[in-house]
Amino acid sequence: MKDIIAAGTLYVVATPIGNLRDITLRALDILAGVDIIAAEDTRTTRHLLTHYAIAKNLMAVHRHNESMAAHKIASLLSGGKAVALVADAGTPGISDPGGILVKTVREQGHPVVPVPGANAAICALSASGITTPHFLFYGFLPASAGSRRRELAELKQYPCTLVFYEAPHRILECVSDLAEVLGVHRQLTIARELTKLFESVHICALGEAIDWFQADPDHRKGEFVLLLSGAETRDEGKLSDQTQSVLKLLLQHLPLKQAVKVAAEISGQSKNMLYSLALSLKDGTEDEIRPNSKS
Ligand code: SAM
Repeated sequence: MKDIIAAGTLYVVATPIGNLRDITLRALDILAGVDIIAAEDTRTTRHLLTHYAIAKNLMAVHRHNESMAAHKIASLLSGGKAVALVADAGTPGISDPGGILVKTVREQGHPVVPVPGANAAICALSASGITTPHFLFYGFLPASAGSRRRELAELKQYPCTLVFYEAPHRILECVSDLAEVLGVHRQLTIARELTKLFESVHICALGEAIDWFQADPDHRKGEFVLLLSGAETRDEGKLSDQTQSVLKLLLQHLPLKQAVKVAAEISGQSKNMLYSLALSLKDGTEDEIRPNSKS
């Protein structure tokens, strides 16, 4: 095992985001082979290591001691030790400590090797069915409502999918602010408890999300990735007269979601845009169809 480990190297190792089997064979080799594992929470990492029968020295590297720990780890690397960095879940440095440590040891000339694996944002995107090619990973929004709304206002014009992380105790206020600042018509994908027992991926219009969360207390539990469709570009914002007529007709005979689904299948147009139009028609807020209206 030692053969695959280079002395004086920092390995940045991704670990599971729930299901303990979501770890690569290489990650296990590295964790078993290094001299020390730097972990965000040593208890969480001990649980993972015990599961794989790996006994190893651990040291804590979290957001409150990262700078100090970085210098300590740099001197271990200088002494020829191999060190692995892990977060509590997923990829270190992604909405988690790691960036300061990696920057510090790089600046001191030590090799840094990524060992890729799970990441909640990519996991959510992969199961979302979102077909737009671009996304912007934003991670956590600020905890305070004022800062959160200000930052959201800056994101309003981005045409790509917006990716957020959110904790259960803030999910309702976060989603309300998303709807208030970015408009109720965007498509929201709520990816909850990915890879865990109560995993769910729910897709709805942003304006329907609060009702969904309130319909069942379980919907508000666990860890969340939110994927929000981007601002519509001018071209995308155009629905042909024919598509609008099809949607109107379908809405007379089907529930909204089903009408949108069928209209999207018939027309090949984005569900998001069709949702937006369908909601406007349903609310009666739009006497006349305004296909270029932005959310
Ligand atoms: N480093 C991690 C990664 O690579 O995804 C992210 C860590 S960040 C501190 C924790 C946040 O990631 C959670 O609040 C949640 O938004 C998201 N997350 C982590 N695990 C998740 C899961 N199993 N299902 C849904 N979201 C998850």
